Amino acid sequence: MSPQTPQTLFTHVRVFDSGGTEPFDGEVLVADGRIAEVRRGHGDLPRDGVRVVDGRGRFLMSGLCDAHTHFSWTNSADLPGLGTMGVEEHTLLCAKAARTYLDSGYTMCVGAAAAKPRLDVVIRDAINNGLIPGPRYLANCQEIAVTGGALVDGITAFADGPEEMRKQVRRNVAMGADLVKLSMSGEEITGSQHAEDNYFSDEETLAATTEAHRRGLRVCSHARSAESVKMSLRNGVDIIYHASYVDEEALDMLEAQKDRVFVAPGINWLVATLHDAAAFGYPPEAAEAAGYGRELEHAVAGIQEMRRRGIRVLPGGDYGFAWTPHGTYARDLRHFVELFGFTPAETLVAATRWGGEIMGAPDELGLVKAGFHADLILVDGDPLRDITVLEDQSRITGIMKGGEFHKDPGATTTPVRARTRDTAAPVS
Ligand SMILES: [Zn+2]
Repeated sequence: MSPQTPQTLFTHVRVFDSGGTEPFDGEVLVADGRIAEVRRGHGDLPRDGVRVVDGRGRFLMSGLCDAHTHFSWTNSADLPGLGTMGVEEHTLLCAKAARTYLDSGYTMCVGAAAAKPRLDVVIRDAINNGLIPGPRYLANCQEIAVTGGALVDGITAFADGPEEMRKQVRRNVAMGADLVKLSMSGEEITGSQHAEDNYFSDEETLAATTEAHRRGLRVCSHARSAESVKMSLRNGVDIIYHASYVDEEALDMLEAQKDRVFVAPGINWLVATLHDAAAFGYPPEAAEAAGYGRELEHAVAGIQEMRRRGIRVLPGGDYGFAWTPHGTYARDLRHFVELFGFTPAETLVAATRWGGEIMGAPDELGLVKAGFHADLILVDGDPLRDITVLEDQSRITGIMKGGEFHKDPGATTTPVRARTRDTAAPVS
């Protein structure tokens, strides 16, 4: 926070606080990077010396969370190319992706593996130091696979047996990562690694989670098969990605651990691989033949059941492939409503309050509530009526992170008194 940062008062906004109450007309005061007060009605909060943003009835909510983020995927269909691309070029593309998340209203992202070891950590630190714009970020390293179990060799770190798992986790620790990613099952598009393959052993998984937790890191897993989900749950994995083929036993285990674990299906990858990949040489017939249609069907049924059981399922996932380009992240929200049967309000809670929880900051992120970080988006439209308004960047007219506007709502602003609000210098 720069010392000149003025207090900001949002007036005439429809507040969706993610706390379970219906949206209400009110005012939100921001000071020192945090939400200072939230009031119903109009006119109660002080305006003197405060920058007033007249929301004109717009929808004010927490910034969004993408629970499965790859800054280092570069909108390319050439995954091996992510391994051979120069690290300098790659870093710039990661910075661009980070900015695109924030431009899209995402103020929280969970790193789900980086194509090169340090990309995520460097970008996270650059964001936190004010060098580049981007969301709050939990950084990962390259995903860890066992020999014969990598989805793409050139972007993977290998470990066989518990001792090597510990060593790779320690490498994540040394690099400053927040997370560890285990690539535990296959992925049909590889042509050779099937979604229901299982590569890890219990011993390897437990070694990785024990070492990670001992050093304060959390562990996520690429787990499409029922067995990889169960192995994740038997051995303390914190975040389960995909979970396409859960069976009854896996669902029971998820339910028993629902206060601890998060699931992020990354469903748009399945939808788009089936429907949008033809232009990139992967026609629907090929996707169907590979089993993606069957996987989508299973995944949708499984997630609907998870919702029924109160398991925290979060939007986000695998954007940055050619047919799931950066900037289209909110397609996930549509899938939550149209495929999983979440109400729009439940979807927004999953993308915000649960986002704060998966970020490890349930008392500071994801709600519009006094004391929380002022990470807010102002939406021209009603996502509760039409969730797809969040797919249109032009409808997200204001984006604030830590009390400062990344996207200034501009014309809706009524400065009450001359302030030095335009003096914020670019970061040198
Ligand atoms: Zn992924």
